[in-house]
Amino acid sequence: MLPPAGTEHRAQQMTLLSGMIHDRWTNAEFGHWLAELVEGPLAADPDGDMGANLRRLKREYDKKVKLPKSLVEELAQTAVFAQQAWVEARRQSNFNHFRPWLGKMLALKRQEAESLGYAACPYDALLDRYEPDARTADVAAVLAGLRQQLVPLVQAIRQGGRQPDVSILHRSFPPDVQQAFGRMAAARIGFDFDRGRLDVTAHPFCTGLGPSDCRITTRYDEHFFNEAFFGILHEAGHGIYEQGLLPEQYGLPLGEAVSLGIHESQSRLWENFVGRSLAFWQFFYPDAQRRFGALADVPLGQFHFAVNDVRPSLIRTEADEATYNLHILVRFELEQALLNDELSLDDLPGAWNAKYEEYLGITPPDAAQGVLQDIHWSAGLIGYFPTYALGNLNAAQLFRQADAELGGLDRHFAQGDFQPLRQWLGEKIHRQGQRYSAAELIRRVTGQPLSHAPLVDHLRRKFGPLYYE
Ligand code: ZN
Repeated sequence: MLPPAGTEHRAQQMTLLSGMIHDRWTNAEFGHWLAELVEGPLAADPDGDMGANLRRLKREYDKKVKLPKSLVEELAQTAVFAQQAWVEARRQSNFNHFRPWLGKMLALKRQEAESLGYAACPYDALLDRYEPDARTADVAAVLAGLRQQLVPLVQAIRQGGRQPDVSILHRSFPPDVQQAFGRMAAARIGFDFDRGRLDVTAHPFCTGLGPSDCRITTRYDEHFFNEAFFGILHEAGHGIYEQGLLPEQYGLPLGEAVSLGIHESQSRLWENFVGRSLAFWQFFYPDAQRRFGALADVPLGQFHFAVNDVRPSLIRTEADEATYNLHILVRFELEQALLNDELSLDDLPGAWNAKYEEYLGITPPDAAQGVLQDIHWSAGLIGYFPTYALGNLNAAQLFRQADAELGGLDRHFAQGDFQPLRQWLGEKIHRQGQRYSAAELIRRVTGQPLSHAPLVDHLRRKFGPLYYE
């Protein structure tokens, strides 16, 4: 929403605020208190409420004091200008307009990594901001396993000879009816409208403004059913996590989400594992047909196939459940190469296109649909992309566990009963806050370390019968 001429003042505001917040976090007295408390009786049980809060606060403090205030301020300022340059570059589809700002941002992120320190590679330090305690090598290993299975699976889907009729999703779906239907579904799966809202924005998001004020947004396309409906389920999934955090721990680590990869698992779980399942639509479809005249002559099976359309595409945010992770692999590999100076900015657009050709079999026709499509790098969010793929992997592993413990979730979904799953997630994930790291949480809840296998199994079980078996 920011008009271009407002950038200068906004950058000054962001610089001032980030510096003030940094000063408060790194206050020496606060550091002394934390150092004393984590050694004392209050933290005797490191996984107890107080122990976990103190341990996580100390961890954050130890990171923050390593960052020079001038770097924090320069990053905040650069992010504002770089984002404006990116908006214009994307409008013109001109990478060169963004390149100097990306170069500056990368240089600052390298400094950030060096200041923070890291175990094996600079990327470790940046990844840690979004996925605490994760290691690049571990993430790369699990994603490599996924890629090995995913590329042939997508090929099998494409070569199976069957394709859904997606034109039924592009009929007329009046936005007010979409809104009413989406609200009803979000409430049914457990988003609490007494403690949250659904509004319209250009770019959908979920944000928490307080323990009982969670905002989710969407956008309506009259001629495409999926955009708003699955977007609402996705953001409602994030919102159910936010609403499931312990209010009495608000502002403390135990009352905050553990990592972006766990946050994204909650949105993906409701959007894809629940919302694109046949059982979900066995319950909701008769109502959808009553509300939308456009679906009156479309049988359930045909609709379910259409919302599970798989095809390689250029834009990450519009990618289907199977190909989405390939978009992430491209970014994960490129941003590591950039950070390590193994890839020059001159070669970035070409490298981007080559990876799209290799993983997805398609080449972007221009930079706007290629290397310029995402806001992340302009905002300094380097190390962020893999959390999307981790979200899909976490979702698959959690869903499989919930399905086993709750005795067949499809049976519940077909009856419109989503409470057992929501309560299970609340107990196992939401109310844990940051008590454990994401990897430890997954291991504790599912009894296994994170693996690509549950996601690959899920995709095969769903897409095999639809496309190639
Ligand atoms: Zn999300």
